[in-house]
Amino acid sequence: MQITNVTCPTSKYSVKCPDITTKDGICVHNTANDASAMAEVSYMLGNNNKVSFHAAVDNERVVTGLPFNRSCYAAGDGRYGSGNAHKINIEICYSKSGEERFEEAENLAACYIAYLLKQYGWGIEKVSKHQDYSGKYCPHRTLDMGWERFLNKIREQLGLQTQPVEEKDYSGGSDEAVRRYVNGSTIENIYADTSLTKKIGYLNPREECDCFGIFNGRPMVRYKVDGSNNYKIGFAKWTGGVK
Ligand SMILES: [Zn+2]
Repeated sequence: MQITNVTCPTSKYSVKCPDITTKDGICVHNTANDASAMAEVSYMLGNNNKVSFHAAVDNERVVTGLPFNRSCYAAGDGRYGSGNAHKINIEICYSKSGEERFEEAENLAACYIAYLLKQYGWGIEKVSKHQDYSGKYCPHRTLDMGWERFLNKIREQLGLQTQPVEEKDYSGGSDEAVRRYVNGSTIENIYADTSLTKKIGYLNPREECDCFGIFNGRPMVRYKVDGSNNYKIGFAKWTGGVK
C-alpha cells in the first residue's frame, strides 16, 4: 500500500483543520468526482474553502492531506461535530463515473481503513459514513452498491467473518425490473453460484446482457453463450457492470 503524505501548511490550519481533537472512528466519503487522490488533496489544500478531509484514496495510492490529530470540514456537522472533529475522514476517488477504477479505489480504501483500525485498536463498528452525521447521501456510490458489502471488504482484511448482504442492496432497483449489465474492459467470469466456486462461462470485454438483480452481492446475469443463440444464467463477481 503506497501512502503519500502531503503537508498542509500551518497557515491554512484555521481554514482546513482548526482544532486539535481526539479521534474515535473513521468516516467514509465518495468524492463524487473523477479526479485522482493527489489531485483531490492538491485541490483541497490549494483553495480557501472550509472543505477538507484527512485522506483520499484512489486505485493506486493513499494520499493524506491533514494531520490526523486535527479536525476537518467533511461531514457537514459543524466545526465541533462528531464527524468533523472526532473522525478520520477518508474520501474514495472516482465515484462519479464508477466502474473498475472506483472498485479498485474502494478495495484500497478497505485495506487502508483496516490498517487504521488495527493501528488505533478499533473494531469494525468504528467505521461510519458521512450520511450518519448530516444526512447527505454520501458515500453515494458505495451506498448504491451496498454499505454492508463495503464493510465486508474491511472485514476480509481484518480476517473477520463477513456479514450477509441484503439482496436489495442495490438502490433504485426492484425485484421485477430487468436491468442491463455492461461488462468492463476485461473478461468477466460467470459462475453457477454466488460463492463463485463453479465457473460456467464468461462475458467478453464490453459485452452487454440482462441483469436480474444482485443476490448475496453478486449480479445475476442472463447472457448469450459464445457463438450461439443459447442463453445461460449465472452470477458475475463485478457489481460495477449493473446499470
Ligand atoms: Zn461526504
